[in-house]
Amino acid sequence: VHSAAERVLAGLDPEQRSAVTAPAGPVCILAGAGTGKTRAVTSRIAHRALTGDISPRHVLAVTFTARAAAEMRSRLALLGVPGVQARTFHAAALRQVRYFAPRLLEGRAMPELLDSKVRVVTLAAAKVGLRADRAAARDLAGEIEWAKSSLVEPGEYVVAAAKALRDTPHEPAKVAEVFAAYEKLKRGNGVIDFEDMLRAAVWGIEEHPDVAEQVRGQYRHFVVDEYQDVNPLQQRLLEAWLGGRDDLTVVGDASQTIYSFTGATSSYLVDFPRRRRGATVVRLVRDYRSTPQVVGLANAVISQARGAEARLRLELVGQRPAGPEPELRIFTDEPAEANAVAARCRALVDGGTPAREIAVLFRTNAQSEAYEKALTEAEVPYVVQGAERFFERPEVRQAMVALRAATRSIPGETPLPAAVVEGLAAVGWAPDAAPAGGAARERWEALAALLQLAEEYAATPEVLPVGEAAAVERQATLGDFNDELARRAAQQHVPTVDGVTLASLHSAKGLEWDAVFLVGLAEGTLPTTYAKTPEQVEEERRLLYVGITRAREWLWMSYAAARSPGGRARRPSRFLPQLDRSGGAERAGAGAARRTERRRNQVVSCRICGATLLAGADRKLGRCPTCPSDIDEELYERLREWRQRVAGAQKVPAYVVFTDAT
Ligand code: ATP
Ligand code: MG
Repeated sequence: VHSAAERVLAGLDPEQRSAVTAPAGPVCILAGAGTGKTRAVTSRIAHRALTGDISPRHVLAVTFTARAAAEMRSRLALLGVPGVQARTFHAAALRQVRYFAPRLLEGRAMPELLDSKVRVVTLAAAKVGLRADRAAARDLAGEIEWAKSSLVEPGEYVVAAAKALRDTPHEPAKVAEVFAAYEKLKRGNGVIDFEDMLRAAVWGIEEHPDVAEQVRGQYRHFVVDEYQDVNPLQQRLLEAWLGGRDDLTVVGDASQTIYSFTGATSSYLVDFPRRRRGATVVRLVRDYRSTPQVVGLANAVISQARGAEARLRLELVGQRPAGPEPELRIFTDEPAEANAVAARCRALVDGGTPAREIAVLFRTNAQSEAYEKALTEAEVPYVVQGAERFFERPEVRQAMVALRAATRSIPGETPLPAAVVEGLAAVGWAPDAAPAGGAARERWEALAALLQLAEEYAATPEVLPVGEAAAVERQATLGDFNDELARRAAQQHVPTVDGVTLASLHSAKGLEWDAVFLVGLAEGTLPTTYAKTPEQVEEERRLLYVGITRAREWLWMSYAAARSPGGRARRPSRFLPQLDRSGGAERAGAGAARRTERRRNQVVSCRICGATLLAGADRKLGRCPTCPSDIDEELYERLREWRQRVAGAQKVPAYVVFTDAT
């Protein structure tokens, strides 16, 4: 056992080790992306378990996504410590609420979980005389989510929104009315939303000493990853779980706060050392994930940040050997951009890079479609993460309704995958009746994916908090699975398959890939047009930082000069020129020789896009290697024209590629 614990330490640097071996009590790991925070915290759990300091089943590790939670569980199992509960706040709260519901509700049925606020918000808006289309309802739903996550009641909304300088979707008094009507509608229909569920978990503990005792008996050692994005409601739940105890390790990077629009705040992380007496504070700077070139870019982007977290920031120091230069490419239009990205994915896969080691990351889910199409044409398998579409398919929605209904007709003891097969028989289906092709086949496969999810879900052992004496493994039921589906639909966790990951920047945090494509880096997309206040713009910058730091080896950034061929010209993201001004990109990869060359040579501009040309070969060609290499005269003319049309774009993009054209 001891040597196993030593093996855990062997894979760590001295700072990480100090985090791992810090005594029981508050520990705070503050560090930039890719420095091994998650690795350190996972190792801390493993080390403490292997040395007999703690029992794995008394640990609750909270992570940000289901995927991160699954990864932590499997990493721990590999280190010889199975059975740790690693969950998202939502999943942990849902478990707890479901477990205690029969006792606390005294036989009344547990309210159903709302998988999306939008429909109820639309009704609530109508009730107060507001016609809200889908987009407007989504904005209102987002605002209600912010309020509830910030522990703001409808009656307090107007004042709270003013204090938080919210860019409200309607006049604040009207939003408050919709909010109140929404709460009333929910109550009337016996449904709850996700914030209600977290609140129920808090309420269960705060108002019921026996529940508190049981939950706290089960959870004694806490870990929270991505703590920079915790919101007041989640913090309140964490405090309820802790109940005044302090065996808590938090891990985070204030420069990666990207959920403040939903009420998250890095202040809990930043203030942690002051708030918790005797806290061990560990800072990490060695970046183990990315090549020095990628690390340099990340430093360059975030060094321009103006957020309050800036004073805490430490520059990352890359540990890996040099790799390929990051690239920034411009395209005439979005289809051209998507096709080029797909072609590169194809080439990578053909060259032996597994598709699951590649990601295409974008700012908004709406950008996904062009890439889905291009990848399909290039015959590259892909999986859309954070896609609403799977759960919006009519057959999937119907199936979810049928599965809810089935909880009333199917005996409770029916094991999970079988119960789902039985439930699906009512619609949307039989496992061995796959149609040959076409729409019928697609429908069949979507429902087969639901069954596969049920199989996976049933196979994950769930240890429920039943207090000191025994942790009981309970057979998952159809009811549990229905809630899991609702949670996935709301949080947009689609089933996993092997393929190129298409994901929003928001859903990519904590994850890493060998090759990352950051697409759509145009003004209006990143930063989005919705980012109006300086704080919102800063959050967009942090999103770019998160995106860049997902890449281990290859990083391709791109944007299209127009949405569609011949369309209105757009400017490159304002964050891009800063890469150049700070010298970050150059410092990162190009090295001293190139710096000298820049000084020696007169500045020559690319005849296509106006970028500064540095390398000799490029200068001779009169164009930079970031411009499409297969450029023809027509494209050249279009680009030139585009450049002339872009008002004030003296310094068009700052190019990060100083390599010779490939
Ligand atoms: P993020 O801020 O993006 O969540 P992180 O700080 O949590 O990043 P990890 O995901 O823990 O970083 O680590 C990044 C990568 O570096 C992982 O592949 C991890 O296995 C590796 N790594 C971490 N620490 C070390 C180390 N001491 N030696 C070698 N590799 C390491
Ligand atoms: Mg991490």
